[in-house]
Amino acid sequence: MVATRGQRSSMTTAECPIPIRRLLNSTSAEDDLRIIKVQNTRFKVNPRILRSGSRIFKTLFQDPESFIDLSGHTASQFRAFLWAAYARPLPSAKSVDVGRLCSVAEVAFTYDFNALKLWSLEGIRTHVNSTPLLRTAPSRTFVRLIQVALLYRDTTLSRVIQSKWLTRMHWHDTDPAPALVVADAYSLRHLLSHAYYVHLVNVAPRIARGLPIDDGGSPLSAAQNLHVLCGYYSLLAAWKQLQAAPPACTSPDETVCPEHRARCEIAWKARWALEVGHSSAFAPVDVLCRLLFIERQLEVDEVLKDCMTPGCRVEALDAIARKRAEISENLHHHFDL
Ligand SMILES: [Zn+2]
Repeated sequence: MVATRGQRSSMTTAECPIPIRRLLNSTSAEDDLRIIKVQNTRFKVNPRILRSGSRIFKTLFQDPESFIDLSGHTASQFRAFLWAAYARPLPSAKSVDVGRLCSVAEVAFTYDFNALKLWSLEGIRTHVNSTPLLRTAPSRTFVRLIQVALLYRDTTLSRVIQSKWLTRMHWHDTDPAPALVVADAYSLRHLLSHAYYVHLVNVAPRIARGLPIDDGGSPLSAAQNLHVLCGYYSLLAAWKQLQAAPPACTSPDETVCPEHRARCEIAWKARWALEVGHSSAFAPVDVLCRLLFIERQLEVDEVLKDCMTPGCRVEALDAIARKRAEISENLHHHFDL
């Protein structure tokens, strides 16, 4: 018997929403079907449908007597793939759960099933670029999406996913540890250095109190924790440098600001010293947030508006923004990556 919707059976296409019998034409016989085993699950499949989309399946089905036992993916992934392979017509990928799309993409890639490779990847791109999915998605969804993007060597997709993930991390809206682990595994340096940064901000109070970084629940290895410590001391040193002097900015021509040294510079250094001397809600190693906060404060500082020429004031504020960008782009140096 071919399993029908809702039934569970050892011949399980049971959880495939489209019963196979419905996909066979009226002349199809039970003999046309083949069994494919994946893990401990046996799937009764229509070889014509699979052969028509993939040379690999064509080869697999050449010997009618051979027993087909597939590995390299789970039964659940294969079930999702079969669901898409049998779907006539394929639904809009936007309406399909992204986890299912990933499964289809992964299995379609393994068997070079071109139509489903294109459909699933396009669906994933749509979810990533045009739906709010990644604003609330858990870390495991990001991991899966990055793995698919890397599998398909889609660097644009990979960059977009990483960018959305690190934005969520900087909001402290998601745990940076899973991103750190996956970025390390796949050598994604930008994501890795930002994950280290956010993780460091989280554990900095423990380090400052002389406690071990790992509170017992961290997935980071000893080597990774060493990078965290490197970042701690390096960013602390960077903050101490900034406490001593504001980010360097270019001096204007004397004709533009004749009293630059006597007024602009003195005012800027004094207000900078005042701001860096204030106690902050951000940890000293959280240099990016501290700089952003100071920039916002100095933007509305009335003394600076009175004492600096507008051009010099804008240049000085831009120097803070440039410093933030420079630190953000070079976090890997701080963490010795
Ligand atoms: Zn000036």
